[in-house]
Amino acid sequence: MDISNTIIRIRNRYRRSLSIHYGQRLLELRPKFPIISFTFDDFPRSALLEGGAILQRHGICGTYYVSLGLLGRELPAGPGFLIEDLRQVIAEGHELGCHTFAHCHSWETTPGVFEKSIIKNKHALGELVPGAAFKTLSYPIACPRPRTKRRAARHFVCCRGGGESFNVGPTDVSNLQARFLEKSRDNPDALKRLIDENTRASGWLILATHDIAETPTPFGCTPAFFEVIVQWAVTSGARILPVARAWEEITAK
Ligand SMILES: [Zn+2]
Repeated sequence: MDISNTIIRIRNRYRRSLSIHYGQRLLELRPKFPIISFTFDDFPRSALLEGGAILQRHGICGTYYVSLGLLGRELPAGPGFLIEDLRQVIAEGHELGCHTFAHCHSWETTPGVFEKSIIKNKHALGELVPGAAFKTLSYPIACPRPRTKRRAARHFVCCRGGGESFNVGPTDVSNLQARFLEKSRDNPDALKRLIDENTRASGWLILATHDIAETPTPFGCTPAFFEVIVQWAVTSGARILPVARAWEEITAK
């Protein structure tokens, strides 16, 4: 047995538990109809050029979580977004969400530095795409510290983490659950079941990934796989909305 791996696993479980149970902003979420949101973290160009094209063909939009400090960079999930991609995201009706300026590790970055990176990303967006504003955030790399969740809550209507399931009932809206598609690449039926459960529960299912490519990185999936999931979502009875639009629907009086 590898002791250091065991220690890392125990440490990560401890962090996750703190992240889930503290710094919460609890809200009773009761969507009037089932909702599914497609989100892309980082975002590699392929998320828009391949993934966005699939969403557009179905007449639906997603959320692109962007770290503007990564503009034009080579990312772990492939070539990163360019300025024209930011404009295209907005022109096509998608949402641009915040992923911090520097793609801060959500646990290992101190809450103060994390918040500064949120503010820097906001200012950078104002310069690059005048008039655009972030309404929601996804936490980079790891689960957030409780104090980081409290700081992030000052800047966004809601924030998204990772997780397994959909959001319904009493929900920490500073750490909404999202299911990463790449974790089910070998078992798409698990996603189909989750989509159907979300419909039955009238919940809010947030799906997440990175690149959409014929040869995806470990962080993404193929266009064919993504297309299947999108088709299931579209025919599930759920409305497909970007995160901020879903939030407006759910919280509308
Ligand atoms: Zn990321």
